[in-house]
Amino acid sequence: MRIRFIGTGAGSSVGTKRVKSSILINDKVLLDLGPGADLKLEDLNLYDKPIALFISHLHVDHFSGIFDYLVQRKIRQLPELEIYSPRGLSEIISSYIRVGNNISAKLYEGNLPKGKVNDLEIYSVNACHTIHAVSYVILDGKRKILYSGDTKEPCEPILEEVKDSDLIIHESTCIENCEEWGHTSLNQILSLFKDKKVVITHIPIDIEEKIINLGNNKVIIAFDGMTLNV
Ligand SMILES: [Zn+2]
Ligand SMILES: [Zn+2]
Repeated sequence: MRIRFIGTGAGSSVGTKRVKSSILINDKVLLDLGPGADLKLEDLNLYDKPIALFISHLHVDHFSGIFDYLVQRKIRQLPELEIYSPRGLSEIISSYIRVGNNISAKLYEGNLPKGKVNDLEIYSVNACHTIHAVSYVILDGKRKILYSGDTKEPCEPILEEVKDSDLIIHESTCIENCEEWGHTSLNQILSLFKDKKVVITHIPIDIEEKIINLGNNKVIIAFDGMTLNV
């Protein structure tokens, strides 16, 4: 599986050094599409490639890149994007259409979104966040990876899936004590996933240096444009 990190910033990140939440698997399947991530796809020459998008939850830093992206797909006459999302997105898209935007998508909503795209099988489990949120498991027949989305830890459904995962892509929104806001700290990641291969993302720009200093050599610290093969 090829994993490209498109956006690795947190909700609080500003500027373009780290745009917000987005990962691209095998150049076909997007996991989240935060603001700025749609533009980053163009910078990386990947704009026309995705055919499906799986959204972890409806906080704006995870999905609001879709609006301009859906407009641009119309302009370029690309096929409708398949979007898998927790309930609520159709209402949001409908309101954009109602006020006069030419956008559309093949939308599949559910509490625990899942789907099959080419040779990838994707399903979700409940994450532990401040609103309904899911974590995604991606399988290609050989490897299993887990993308946490936003969650606090310890979160049982995630820890269960982590056991036989080959790679964990996990949010890390603070150094310590951000459970209260539904997030996971770097310290928790270092103690919970000691013997696992972990990539951290959802990194606030203002503590990036500290995260790099503390996490280096223990976890892989994602950056926008980073590619991994597993
Ligand atoms: Zn977030
Ligand atoms: Zn969130």
